[in-house]
Amino acid sequence: MEVHGPGGASGHPRPPAAGVSVAAAPSEAAAAVLNDVFGFPAFRPGQAEIVAAAEAGRDLLLVAPTGSGKSIGYWVPGIAGGGLTVVVSPLIALMNDQVNRLHSLGVPAAALHSQVDRETQDAALRDAASGTLRFLYVTPERFAVPSFTTALGALRVSRLAIDEAHCISSWGHDFRPDYRRLKDAAELCGRPPIGAFTATATPRVRADIVASLGMDDPEVRVTGFVRPELRLCVVRCRGQQEKRAALLHALRTLPGRAIVYCGRVRATEEIAALLRENGLRAAAYHGDLDAGERHLAHAGFTGGQVSVIVATSAFGMGIDLPDIRNVIHLDFPGSIEQYYQEAGRAGRDGERADCTLLYSPADRDLQSFFIEQAYPDRDAVRDVYRVLLREGRWDLDDWDTCVPGRERHVVRAALDVLRRGGALQEGGGVSRLATAPVDFDAQAVLRELAYARLHQVMDYARSGACRHARIADYFGEEGAPRSCTSCDNCLSPPRARVPATAQDVAAALGCVARFDGHLGAARLTALLRGADDAWTQQRRWVRDAAFFGALRAWTADSVRELFAILIEEGCLRRSSGERPVLSLTVAGHAVLDGRSSVEVEVEVAAAVQRPRPRSGTVQEDLSADAGERFERLRAWRRSVAQGADVPAYVVFDDRTLRELALRNPATGSELVSIPGIGPVKLARYGDELLQVLTEAARGDATSRPIE
Ligand SMILES: [Zn+2]
Repeated sequence: MEVHGPGGASGHPRPPAAGVSVAAAPSEAAAAVLNDVFGFPAFRPGQAEIVAAAEAGRDLLLVAPTGSGKSIGYWVPGIAGGGLTVVVSPLIALMNDQVNRLHSLGVPAAALHSQVDRETQDAALRDAASGTLRFLYVTPERFAVPSFTTALGALRVSRLAIDEAHCISSWGHDFRPDYRRLKDAAELCGRPPIGAFTATATPRVRADIVASLGMDDPEVRVTGFVRPELRLCVVRCRGQQEKRAALLHALRTLPGRAIVYCGRVRATEEIAALLRENGLRAAAYHGDLDAGERHLAHAGFTGGQVSVIVATSAFGMGIDLPDIRNVIHLDFPGSIEQYYQEAGRAGRDGERADCTLLYSPADRDLQSFFIEQAYPDRDAVRDVYRVLLREGRWDLDDWDTCVPGRERHVVRAALDVLRRGGALQEGGGVSRLATAPVDFDAQAVLRELAYARLHQVMDYARSGACRHARIADYFGEEGAPRSCTSCDNCLSPPRARVPATAQDVAAALGCVARFDGHLGAARLTALLRGADDAWTQQRRWVRDAAFFGALRAWTADSVRELFAILIEEGCLRRSSGERPVLSLTVAGHAVLDGRSSVEVEVEVAAAVQRPRPRSGTVQEDLSADAGERFERLRAWRRSVAQGADVPAYVVFDDRTLRELALRNPATGSELVSIPGIGPVKLARYGDELLQVLTEAARGDATSRPIE
């Protein structure tokens, strides 16, 4: 059995690259381990190839959802092949689980982390050195500890397995700088074959994992993301009231164990109380509970006394049970990875389970709040720093007034950056900084990535296409069917939508601008529909405004939807509190002034049927030349969007491309006159745009992206 020891790897001929490799099968020894040790008669799709690659001493990357048996990919070769496998894992709870599981199967394994006492650690390293240990679990932080790296360098390591490998990529949703050490760590233990494992990795993150670990022609498999037992659906809600109703409805439709995810700790308590009032056995589960309370909630859920756990994302991971029937997101998560990892906790037993995303435009505000808090920009930090220097103290009570124009959470985030940068002294005093407290350029990139991920979630929520197909595409799983029988869009196709005209949008924005921050959506809707009521009778001047009655032909519902979408698009802001009011954002002003544009579609059934000046596709009325330019620009946009892993509209929307095609600008200053092209986009894409237009003029076909 000891044929694949540490020295074996280099001597093996390398099979060709992933995807074209001849079907490799695991050894008989591996099949025997799978059956005898783990009790599985056969490998699942993707597992066999991964195990075979590991046995051949190749590097490998397996992307498969949690619960699909990823660990088999290194356990089986590790046991069948013998020697020591070092497993890097960031979660202590997960490590302990795995070590316990291996022990129960009679496999020698140990974990090194901060909660293990010194003697146990020493014993584990001794066992590893003597060859009796099969699996040594370590945290990535460990590789920064010199005594550990010295000990590791003396061991004969047969394989290095890296769990949660997506943490190595700043493109992912869970970047951990400690993971960047792992390439060196692999060299340190003699560069054994590396296996990287993760439940969540987009094509971009996968490429980053392979490059960052210095993998050599790895076997790459993406498998298991299409799970027909999960019924994926998105319920569009207007505000909290509708969300709560939808939540109760979902929990009654499919009874059984359920997890409800909330964006904030306070909401978990409120929702748990609401559910209890409605006769459900619910408990909150979050980081502010003490260990005892948390244990109680956890044990109640496992034991069946509690049927619904209302958790924050950070605390949902300890509650894996096979028979969870519902996972409901009350606030939308920051990325598709996060969404599917959480939703995927449902239906592990293979029985039907529902994954419901309750979607409302205000969710965007919560997520951008988190993003702004995580990455405050240079100006905000500078503003706060100036106030600190002026005041000479940082323990002030009235920050709201001290830093005008900055929201409270941004000020707090800036303070946090300054604290980490050493500007805030213990006693409340302020130190002058010689250098920037943080790398703002790097922060800006991370912030942009966070927003791009946020837009992908919004795209998913608003999509009318098959959700399973969309998830499969997102993770790069090939061969997924384009329709299904287990998502809302396939089960009941969404009603057709029609675009609102620029005039419709301008009327809505103009109406909000006139009463900026003073009226709510209901009153504004009445004005746009030209309501003849007490309010307008008392303010007769309103009847002369251009927006009054501008959407007279619309239903109230469609006007409300228009507002909701303009909030999502970032053109309007809705205040919090009991009587929310609407106000115009900087982006909204830009649209109103004609400096940029926004595409809005409303439901056909809700909107009124009337002839529209441009009812067809955007390029319909373009000349042949302009049409050719438009198609080239679209092809260019597609390749840029794919390369950056963002939706196309993040690059440019159709209207901007149409304007470009029509006006055919030849210089940078002509470019910025086009709505949708500001200084940032000019700097980023200006040269490329001009290049595409020049090629179109020459009829140059060679550099056109291959479809
Ligand atoms: Zn579907």
